[in-house]
Amino acid sequence: MQFHTSVLDLIGNTPLIQLCSVTEPGGPLVLAKVEYFNPGGSVKDRIAPTLIQAAEDAGELKPGGTIIEPTSGNTGVGLALVAQRRGYHCIFVCPDKVSIDKINVLKAYGADVVTCPTAVPPEHPDSYYSVSDRLVREITDAWKPDQYANPNNPRAHYEGTGPELWEQTQGRITHFVAGVGTGGTISGTGRLLKERSGGRVRIVGADPEGSVYSGGDGRPYLVEGVGEDFWPSALDRSVLDEVIAVSDGDSFAMTRRLAREEGLLVGGSAGMAVVAALRVAATAGPDDVIVVLLPDGGRGYLSKVFNDDWISAHGFEVPTDATVRAGDLL
Ligand code: PMP
Repeated sequence: MQFHTSVLDLIGNTPLIQLCSVTEPGGPLVLAKVEYFNPGGSVKDRIAPTLIQAAEDAGELKPGGTIIEPTSGNTGVGLALVAQRRGYHCIFVCPDKVSIDKINVLKAYGADVVTCPTAVPPEHPDSYYSVSDRLVREITDAWKPDQYANPNNPRAHYEGTGPELWEQTQGRITHFVAGVGTGGTISGTGRLLKERSGGRVRIVGADPEGSVYSGGDGRPYLVEGVGEDFWPSALDRSVLDEVIAVSDGDSFAMTRRLAREEGLLVGGSAGMAVVAALRVAATAGPDDVIVVLLPDGGRGYLSKVFNDDWISAHGFEVPTDATVRAGDLL
């Protein structure tokens, strides 16, 4: 018989899939690292076991304790998965721009969720950072993984995502493109790839227009899970060769194309990263190998990115081929 004794065994070792339709013919190979194949559905499953194990080893997380984290959802799912297996309770604090679908997923895994306003600065008492700090102070045996400052976040990618990509591409990867949220993915993966290649692999961050990573002032944007209004310590700026800013409109249009043309139903931050990867591909050599990381699946965004009414209500263009085809049927 072939079986796993824990769903946690399935974290990592995600596939690389060539993007064939959204890319230009004759251009370099563009490979997508598709992270929705993780059991909780996102790249963030990768950090949860590393964060929790390190906290147990350090005595910061005690048996029966409570894990409290400000998270847009995906880190919450990963933490909730591991917490279940090890007998911890989880409370997640999310900004209110996070879709109700994502919040319901966290609740389904048995976590409690508190929502806070998106449009307040991090130091405001109602910000999701401040609220999570207060809960940690008030609840006994509470532990905050603090993914924005925890070195075990990039370490999980240095030990997992990075070596996987090096081996999957047989060391031929030339560019790695990923969205930057906490910076854990790009810092850990990027550092490993730089080391293995002797500095040859170019590390490119993708960022929503308005976020500080690409020179913005942190003004709100709609793509979830990426961009920030401050510089977290989990982000190692020295690893980044370049950051490409992508508009919400371009991110959402590409996200929808990935579902229709590549069969990849992914979230908005994946569309954003692919837009950046295609800009890299436009100036790369024909033998280059560009890997772009797609952080999560699209089912959590059906009422937003994939909903025509939501798209037009936010001033973005609804793809015309959808309208024409529906019209033809009438
Ligand atoms: N995309 C999504 C949907 C995410 O939830 C996250 C995590 N915040 C990221 C991208 C960015 O990953 P990281 O935090 O490792 O930079």
